[in-house]
Amino acid sequence: MMKYALVTGGSRGIGRAISIKLAADGFFVFINYKSADDAAQETLNEIRKTGGQAELLKFDVSNSAETISALEKLASEKPDIYIHTLVNNAGIRKDNLLVFMQDSEWNDVLNTNLNSFFTITRALIKNMLVKKSGRIINIVSLSGIKGLPGQTNYSAAKAGIIGATKALAQEVARKNVTVNAIAPGFISTDMTADLDQNELKKMIPAQRFGKPEEVAELVSFLASDKSAYITGEVIHVNGGLYT
Ligand code: NDP
Repeated sequence: MMKYALVTGGSRGIGRAISIKLAADGFFVFINYKSADDAAQETLNEIRKTGGQAELLKFDVSNSAETISALEKLASEKPDIYIHTLVNNAGIRKDNLLVFMQDSEWNDVLNTNLNSFFTITRALIKNMLVKKSGRIINIVSLSGIKGLPGQTNYSAAKAGIIGATKALAQEVARKNVTVNAIAPGFISTDMTADLDQNELKKMIPAQRFGKPEEVAELVSFLASDKSAYITGEVIHVNGGLYT
């Protein structure tokens, strides 16, 4: 039977690689994004080129009303399907020292990275529980574990999802729904394009940034039946950076 996945922020970067990988694994993938229509279309084309199945699902994850209405529309248009695998990947950075941080920098990062987790997961987990099969995979960050200066907003959001991952995992384990988090280190995407790779890679034991595909491989495993007994975990993909 066809399994369905929703990848938030699937138009670019890590989310694109995850969408492509899950489609190659046989999932029908709903690719969410906010505004980059061309990039989203490119992800969709790449999936279809290789015989995969996917569809675009544009909505702003930081807007709970918009999110709920997009998910309700999907449920009413396709009443016979349910999302088996949810990848909460959409995220933004708005770095600033706390002393200078604007309300909007705090709220935008919390709404996009953390509150979206609550809105989307609550909407989709019901069917997973009824079907007694599901996967929730949250893309967090090294920043949410060790904290990074200049990122109190982002570290708070990611640490918040880590706490929720551990709590929710215990709520739903008996229904065969697993909840895990992946904490990437430095991955080459638009989000890290402004960073000095040559300088930063010196402190990474692997001596390089990671590729989005290297995160997608772990998502693929966590979405599969092979990972059924792994839940409530935070798994690092960071070239040995975090000790
Ligand atoms: P990118 O900036 O390359 O891509 C971000 C994606 O999120 C885009 O698809 C974007 O859509 C989408 N997005 C952003 N805001 C919204 C929104 N409000 N609603 C819907 N979609 C949205 O980021 P990365 O691929 O680098 O990051 C992906 C995830 O991985 C994030 O959660 C990030 O925090 C995390 N991460 C990344 C690391 C890295 O080194 N790159 C390290 C650790 C964690 P659109 O194209 O429409 O703008």
